Amino acid sequence: MSILDFIGQKEVIGRFIDQFRSGMASHAYVLSGPPGIGKKTLARKMAQTLLCLEGPDSAPCGRCRGCRSFEAGLNTNFFQIVPETRSVLIDQVRVILDDITVRPAKGRKVYLIQEADRMTPQAQNCLLKTLEDPPPYAVIIMTAGNFESLLITIRSRVVHFRLSRYSDEEIRMILEKHGKASPEGDPAVVYSEGIPARALALSGNKDFVKTRELVLSYLFDDEKDMADLELNQYLSANREALADCLDILESAWRDAMLILCGKTGSLINSDKSDKLMEYAKKNSIQGLIEKIEELNGVRSQLRRHINHQLAVDLVTLALHK
Ligand SMILES: [Zn+2]
Repeated sequence: MSILDFIGQKEVIGRFIDQFRSGMASHAYVLSGPPGIGKKTLARKMAQTLLCLEGPDSAPCGRCRGCRSFEAGLNTNFFQIVPETRSVLIDQVRVILDDITVRPAKGRKVYLIQEADRMTPQAQNCLLKTLEDPPPYAVIIMTAGNFESLLITIRSRVVHFRLSRYSDEEIRMILEKHGKASPEGDPAVVYSEGIPARALALSGNKDFVKTRELVLSYLFDDEKDMADLELNQYLSANREALADCLDILESAWRDAMLILCGKTGSLINSDKSDKLMEYAKKNSIQGLIEKIEELNGVRSQLRRHINHQLAVDLVTLALHK
């Protein structure tokens, strides 16, 4: 599959191909976006296009030595740097600087730096020298969760492509490409929030379906005390389920807010709309906002590694209010 068959990101790909075909390809790109959006996958498609030895109008041709060796993982003009520790270190960037001065026998050289926002400031400054005066045959592609974490001197010397979330239709196409059927109202699509890796992880995930049924039936149940212990124990025993529970609750509370605003056309949990209507009537917009804020508080505490059981207790407590 070439960049031209890539599902989604049409605007970014269109800009890249237009620049490339008119001989205006940049020497440095940064692809940014949330985890799982497909930065590395698209970066590799861009690299393959740049390394094709045919004319720009037919690249990537899929037939030339450049294309075939790339697909086999053997293209010696393609280099990847992956963080080895929490940071991308200056020594890793120096490998590029040593290699980039050696002209390829034919075509271009492409360097992919993954998670470039994890480069130390020293590593970024080291790379900057190359970005200021790159050899004409070299292209550096970087991926970054947060573009703004890069030094402004780097940011000003690259073409920045911010990847956007995928439509439900595109997510469905991606699932199908991976051999996963996606029926109407598939939770994998609605809960993916437009992020392919999330949709792929949720698709056919029976644990997620179970967590959702449990959390929503608990939420809609007026006699919570009986089910309290069951939910608490389930979340205590399942680390994954707690993160899913937070997403499910947030989706339900957002749906309830939409109902109170009279907008029922785009509910995430549309299969539970009757129960949601009833639930929404018992709540106020302000109350729902406060609940979502409490959830976000638990999320940020989880990122700071609070005790799992304590987080479970906080979530069940928030549910009671
Ligand atoms: Zn080719």
